[in-house]
Amino acid sequence: APLNVGFIGLGAMGFPMASTLITKLPKGSKIYLFDVSNNAMETFTRLHSTSSEPCDSPKQVAENATIIFTMVPEGSHVRSVYFDKPNGLLSHHLESRLLVDCSTIDCETSLSVYEEIKRHSPSARFYDAPVSGGTLGAEKATLTFMLGCSEDDENYPHLNGLLSLMGKTVVPCGGPSFGLVAKLCNNYCSALIALATSEAMNIGMRSGMDPRLLARVFASSTAQSTICDKWNPVPGVCPDAPSSHGYQGGFKVQLMKKDFGLAVEAGKKAGAKMLLADAGLKVYTEASEDPKCRDLDSRVVFRYLGGDEQ
Ligand code: NAD
Repeated sequence: APLNVGFIGLGAMGFPMASTLITKLPKGSKIYLFDVSNNAMETFTRLHSTSSEPCDSPKQVAENATIIFTMVPEGSHVRSVYFDKPNGLLSHHLESRLLVDCSTIDCETSLSVYEEIKRHSPSARFYDAPVSGGTLGAEKATLTFMLGCSEDDENYPHLNGLLSLMGKTVVPCGGPSFGLVAKLCNNYCSALIALATSEAMNIGMRSGMDPRLLARVFASSTAQSTICDKWNPVPGVCPDAPSSHGYQGGFKVQLMKKDFGLAVEAGKKAGAKMLLADAGLKVYTEASEDPKCRDLDSRVVFRYLGGDEQ
């Protein structure tokens, strides 16, 4: 049966996700859009004129849609979409709505929205569902969704079906906010692997070794990783990686800094001992501010180390 879906936040990720979704939903389905940028909504409705409608506010999205996705930058934006008066989502009754937040934000904000929805509309449900796979994954519908619920959640089959239209893997992570826990742990680890790989490759290169040979050794030894094999930070090692194209495309270093910071905060609150957190935070913060690295793929930490000055 046709569905009325809402999509709030049509940026680098939200736009291609919503585009894929509307082309794959049953015939007659409609997507109700909101973004603080009118431009994004206009471009979208031009592309999907019969199946999409721009809205004046999140509240208006809630008036029309039964499943509402959000894909905005930070926790403050999620709070604004939900709690702003008089135009936030909670300014409308949310009876039986499914609310799915795909943004990468802090767990506290996500849990507070979850609790507030439960109090405000007991028949509605809020889920965290952050993604991995970047803008390319969003365009090709190959994203991984880390979903904050258990496999036996009553809405899981429906959510799994919908998210599978936009991605190829959906992992039910156990319960509310655990999708975000998983996402932040993944990016903490990935950021440090990129840094460790950069440092190790730099040692080898400065000792006179060909980085392609070194990467080949890593690939069949214990330093093997997806970062080494597919996203190698050293220019020229992986021809398709951003590093081989001036670090264009990929996952911006500022976004990695944001996620790393969120992971460190989560780790502190959880009492986890983290010996690498300070070093990682310093590198990703300084690289985010450095004009040679800013706005480029996060694997640009190799350049931050001065690796490409040889
Ligand atoms: P983006 O900045 O490109 O897009 C965000 C969109 O949200 C913009 O169109 C903006 O106008 C809109 N927006 C901001 N505040 C709003 C509000 N209050 N109401 C409605 N719309 C609002 O960001 P993005 O790259 O699409 O990232 C979105 C989220 O996805 C972030 O949390 C990011 O960490 C996460 N993420 C990004 C990537 C990536 O590769 N870009 C990968 C995985 C996860």
